[in-house]
Amino acid sequence: MGFVSLGCPKALVDSEQILTQLRAEGYAIAPDYGGADLVVVNTCGFIDAAVAESLDAIGEALAENGKVIVTGCLGAKGGGDFVREAHPKVLAVTGPHATAEVMSAVHTHLPKPHDPFTDLVPPSFGKIGIKLTPTHYAYLKISEGCNHRCTFCIIPALRGDLVSRPLGEVMQEAENLVKAGVKELLVVSQDTSAYGVDVRYRTGFWQGRPVKTRMQELVEALGSLGAWVRLHYVYPYPHVDDVIPLMAQGKVLPYLDVPFQHASPRILKLMKRPANAENTLARIKAWRALCPDITLRSTFIAGFPGETESEFAALLDFLEEAQLDRVGCFAYSPVEGAVANDLPDPVPEEVREERRARFMAVQERISAQRLTRKVGTTIDVLVDAVEGSRAVARSTADAPEIDGVVHVTGATGLRVGSFAKVRITGADAHDLTGRLAR
Ligand code: SF4
Repeated sequence: MGFVSLGCPKALVDSEQILTQLRAEGYAIAPDYGGADLVVVNTCGFIDAAVAESLDAIGEALAENGKVIVTGCLGAKGGGDFVREAHPKVLAVTGPHATAEVMSAVHTHLPKPHDPFTDLVPPSFGKIGIKLTPTHYAYLKISEGCNHRCTFCIIPALRGDLVSRPLGEVMQEAENLVKAGVKELLVVSQDTSAYGVDVRYRTGFWQGRPVKTRMQELVEALGSLGAWVRLHYVYPYPHVDDVIPLMAQGKVLPYLDVPFQHASPRILKLMKRPANAENTLARIKAWRALCPDITLRSTFIAGFPGETESEFAALLDFLEEAQLDRVGCFAYSPVEGAVANDLPDPVPEEVREERRARFMAVQERISAQRLTRKVGTTIDVLVDAVEGSRAVARSTADAPEIDGVVHVTGATGLRVGSFAKVRITGADAHDLTGRLAR
């Protein structure tokens, strides 16, 4: 079986679940198209570039192998017709989070191999599943879908409304991962702060005791497992304030990934962003007062339809004031099917790009200044790679793939997946440099 996995951490978790099921049923995973009897392509449909990449991947799998099943966000577009029109020869198309449907398509086109051992073993018995990340960190998906309708986003159309995973199931998976050696759990969803809203914060059970299906309780329970716990995609609702003391107490990482997207109230309203009426700067100040070491990461969109030069300037002012640690910025990209495409006064592409570049220049200066303050301190890191006496590691401020890293010297003897203390000696706009503190 061949497998191509594209897209965000949520799609990666879907891939892991399908791969786990394939292996549980005795299918072997082939490293190339030639060695596979069938190829599953997990696609992304978020922005036009991702759509093009996904269609290319399907085309390549068809050319190289010929038997292809498509799953993921792009597969949900037009009920599967979008993919079928571009590639009529695909065997089956499903949307995201559809392990059962993918498996049924696999069974139709490639009958299940008989294995006397696996056939007797219940699918999830004693397993933690296949992970596509290195073994010392893992994404933990707590819910699927989203109840919001941000005008630039088609994810709710692709993935549906919010469905929270049962608390007991999430905790069991987290526990299994930690027992298997995972040192960092990255909590992902479309809206982590909304966890449990769909089930009215129903009481679940973990280790025989009642725990509410709610972010606060989930985070507290995860914090008791002894691994780093990093929260992604948290919206600034008032109840998020209650999680900050847990960060100050060291129960979860002092790291909050809050996608603000803009600072102008009018643009946030046009975007239909959750919590758009919150006084964000005051909240940031309060969070920092409660937990001075907190790292704040966010993403923004420059050149949203109707954004005036003065609204963009207000966004830059916000950036100066907020002093966020980690920031990503996209030039607005009109995703097919997004409501925002029909808003009046679209910003020309070159202006969108120019604003993005101006935004990033401001943020780079802020980021460099904030990282420079760490020179001379000793920080905890988790080691991602070691080569001789050098290592690449991450601090509590660095999520894998999206943030910076800590380059460590004097690292002989360090192991991947171990924690260490590093004396910081240098910084640039993204990364730190330091020496292992013995
Ligand atoms: S919160 Fe908005 S941007 Fe995020 S998935 Fe939901 S609709 Fe899309």
